[in-house]
This record gives sequence, structure tokens and C-alpha cells, in this order.
Amino acid sequence: MFDKDLSKVLYIDLTRRKFWIENREDLFSKYIGGTGIAINLLHEECPKGIDPFHPDNPIIFAVGPLTGLFPLCSKTIAMFKSPLTGNLGESHAGGRSAISIRMAGYGAIVIKGSSDEPIYLSIHDNKVDFKIASGIWGVRSSYTVGRILREREKGEGIRTIMRIGKAGEKLVRYASVITETYRHFGRLGLGAVFGSKKLKAIVVSGKKPIPIKDPIAYKKLYDEIFKEAVESPIMKKYHELGTAENVLPLNKIGGLPTKNLNKAFFEEAEFISGEYLAKNYLGRRIACSHCPVACIHLAALREPYEDEPYFFKTTMISYDYELIYSLGSMLGISDTSNFLKLIDEVEIQGLDAMSTGVVLAWATEAYEKGLINKEHTLGLDFKWGNVENYIKTVRHIVNQPNEFYEDLAKGVEYASNKYGGKDFALSFGGNEMPGYHTGPAGYLGFITGARHSHLDSAGYSYDQKNIGKKMEAKEIAEYCFNEESWRQILSSLVICFFARGIYKPNIVSEALKIAGYNFSEEDLNKIGEEILKKKYQFKFREGFSMDKIHIPKRIFETPSPHGLIKEEILKKAIDTYMEKIFGKTFP
Ligand code: SF4
Repeated sequence: MFDKDLSKVLYIDLTRRKFWIENREDLFSKYIGGTGIAINLLHEECPKGIDPFHPDNPIIFAVGPLTGLFPLCSKTIAMFKSPLTGNLGESHAGGRSAISIRMAGYGAIVIKGSSDEPIYLSIHDNKVDFKIASGIWGVRSSYTVGRILREREKGEGIRTIMRIGKAGEKLVRYASVITETYRHFGRLGLGAVFGSKKLKAIVVSGKKPIPIKDPIAYKKLYDEIFKEAVESPIMKKYHELGTAENVLPLNKIGGLPTKNLNKAFFEEAEFISGEYLAKNYLGRRIACSHCPVACIHLAALREPYEDEPYFFKTTMISYDYELIYSLGSMLGISDTSNFLKLIDEVEIQGLDAMSTGVVLAWATEAYEKGLINKEHTLGLDFKWGNVENYIKTVRHIVNQPNEFYEDLAKGVEYASNKYGGKDFALSFGGNEMPGYHTGPAGYLGFITGARHSHLDSAGYSYDQKNIGKKMEAKEIAEYCFNEESWRQILSSLVICFFARGIYKPNIVSEALKIAGYNFSEEDLNKIGEEILKKKYQFKFREGFSMDKIHIPKRIFETPSPHGLIKEEILKKAIDTYMEKIFGKTFP
């Protein structure tokens, strides 16, 4: 490794208000960075069996050797014990988080302990300040918190501001952490872990350069990657419409979960499609640091003031495919302006949009079926498409005025265990489902993925490539295992998964050489498998078991692009997948 700063880990103890730096070249030379480092630190720092809200649950951020060097290596890994699933919590975000951490001179940050009053951390190069955050604790909007911190903290243009909204303060188990504006550590409840530590925000900036030994080789490879990033048709699509481009194609093949997956085709999908939003609402595109693609799409919602003619309030609202699914089709919402207002409320409160949408969809069906009633909902009528009530429900989930909303704040699995409706509670391993009813490989990915995320092994993409073909359990399991193993390398570096087609194994190996690492493609494959195994070891250590995983019947009842999904194939594929990690005697 050429950059000795990369192996520095900044440890922060919130209880004692102390910090120190350790050199962990032992980890960085073997496990590269990002997820590879974070899982090792999680094993070291997280006591076995601990409550996720216990002060000893660590929050770990990690970046990688390509951060700041190559295009699209723009993400940061966050790892923690998840309050939503009770085991591995891992979330990825871009914005300026990665470059700020690296230029402050760290490869990773570990935050332990908890504060007895609201605080925020101000990290500028080697200086760490613990600052009182009572004035921004309880503020209604996460946007306002960001604005206040922007004014108070130095480092404009090179700093990251990560903060929680009220959802994190109130320990909603799927609360997010917002970075800059419009980027998130969304999944698995990092925001609630922040809240449990009374940690409102973290600001990081630095000005340390990143050393390069061979500038000529660096420029040559950089230009090659940059050219692909701006010229390849896939990246062009991400720029033009963003991931929202997937709405209509998925709907067309019958893979867009609609109204809690009662069906997988939404008749009114056009009004929440990427094309419609771009034509009628697109206000700006923005990018994570060091990314020439700029896939982040912001809608400009223009609303008139009631008593002021020709006066409008314009709100910029970020949208993408997952939000369109979870807060649109899943809830039967097709009124575009209202749909944007619901997204905005979720952002203001600091919730994970995917989990929130799935929770609202389950609650709507449970209400329809009489499992819950107006006593539970405090008089609200849960009806598909009723945005006004969904916005009120989101506020209730955060403020938790009664036991029912306290239960909704714990996620779909918890709520359905208590009120019934498990057959249509769309969560896997405790994590609410992503927006792909594409076939068996997609579901295998949600079930076996270490984070129970569609991004773990991208089975949904395999399903789509194989429409019309018979898929065997073994081949699905092999695809998901190989893909998830390789993705451990991408997320150790830490590369945006949208660039996975550019960063092929040979390019990764070359790029690592420039950063001072000598790993062959074979070495990388082995390291990827080892990291994945370590994640599973953590999950099992914390009580996860494939035997306990609940598969909601609904996924077998609604036809997918591969017809009705067969339970036997999925179960066989799960066993094959687990055998690939642990051999025949997996726990
Ligand atoms: S493609 Fe999008 S998410 Fe990925 S780094 Fe670029 S702007 Fe960020």
C-alpha cells in the first residue's frame, strides 16, 4: 500500500469523549478496505448477543484504496448490528462521505459508547470535537438540520454531513442516516443506532493528498475507466433517467410489485415512470463525489401558496426506482405530485423509504382484511392510493402515539407476528423486500444475501436475463453465490455497483496495482469468498438461522415473469447456496 493513511482507523468513544488512532495495516493489507475491513472490525468490536441499542454496538465506516483515485469509487460502507434484523447491519452510501473520510486521513472510523446528551461529531483532519447538538435534536426536518450544520461547520465543498432525522431519534428500526442531501445509509436501521447513542450527526473533512507512485500508468487507466463511464450505453441511461428507467420495463414483464404484491403489474405505472418524471418534473441531476455519471434525479415540485397569487414554493425531491416501487406502486399511488410529497415526508423524517413503503402496504392490506381497525390506526382509513393518510401514518410511525404505531416502527416482521398477516408480510430475514418480483433468483438473493438486499447478489437481474428459459436450483444458487462473493471485492474498494460492468476483475487488479496492492484475480476471488463467509459467521453468531427464515406465501401466489414461483426450487436453491459457503453442515 502506498498510502499509509489508508490503514489508519479512527476510534471514537462517545461515553468517555475520547478518540485515538490505530494503524491497522494487518487488516488493510489482507482485506483491502470497505466491507472487508468493516466486517473484521465488527467481529472485534461488537460483543456477542448484544442489544443493537446497547452503547457497545459499534458504528463502523470504511472506505477503500480506490476511493478518491478512480471514477465511481464513491461509496462508504457502514456496518453495525442491525436493530431491524438483530444481526448484520450493512449499508452503503455515496455523496461526499467516502472522499471526506479518506482525505481526513482515515481508512475507517469506529464509533463506540453513547452520549448522555445529544451531540454531533466534528472531524476535521486529526481533530475530533464532540459538540452539543441539543439545538438540532427534535428539529422537524432533516433538511433543516443539514442547513444548520452547513452554516456552523467548515470545509465547504470537501466535507460530508451525515445526520439523522426524527425517526432515528425515536429509534424507528428502519431509520436512515442522510448524507449531504438526497443520499442515504438507508437500510437496516443505522439511523436508530445513531439515535440510541444520542448521536445526531457526523461532519468529516480533510485535505490530505492521496499518493500515486506511477502517474503515467494511473492516468492511462483512469482515462480508460472514465471513457467507459461516460460513453457506455448503460451509464448513459443511468444519467438520463436514473434507475427510474426500470419502472416501465419491469411493469411490462409483470415484475413490479403492486399493492403489497397482490399483483405485479400497475396499470397506472406510466405516471410514476422515469420517462414521465423526467419530462414533467426533472429539476436537476446530481452526482456523488468523483462520479461523472450523475444518476441522482431531483424532481422540482412546484406548489402554489394558498393566498398569494403567482407565488410558488419549489421543493427538490430525489426519486429513484426503489422509491417509485415502495412509495408508489406498492401503495397504488399514481398521482405524481402526491407521490413526490410522500417521498418528501419520508426524507424529512429520516426513514428508509423501502421499509416504510412495505410497512404501509402491509398495514393497508391488514386493515382491509380486518386484522387491524380504526382503534389501532387512530381513526385513519388505510386505503390504496390515499396519500394524505399515508403521510399522517408516516408521522405516527415516527412519533408513536400508541402501541400499534410503536409496533409499525419495528418493521413488518414484528408487526405481522403480533397482528397476523404473515403470509403477506413482505420481509426476508427481517428486512423489507426490494422492488423485484422477477422470479426465483431474485427471491434467493433476498433470502440468502448477507444483508437481505437485492444488491447482494442481483438475482433479480439473472431472472430478467433468463425469461422464457427453465432455471435449475443449482445454477441459480451458483450465480448468486459467485456474484455475491465478487461484490464483496467491489464493496471493499468501495465501487458503486452501477459501475460493476466497468470494474471487471482484470481492471480491478490493475487499479489495485496502482494503489500499491498486488492481488491476482484468483486472490481477489478467494478474498471475496472469505469476506462473505465472515459476514455469515457474524449472522450465525447473532442467532440467524436459515431454518427460522420466514418466506411469505404471497410470493408464490402472484405470477412472476417466470410464472408461479415454486417453493421447492427456492428451498433447494437456498440449501445449495448455503452449502457453497459452509459445506454440507451449514448451521
Ligand atoms: S452512479 Fe449514481 S450512485 Fe453511483 S456513484 Fe454515480 S451518482 Fe453515485
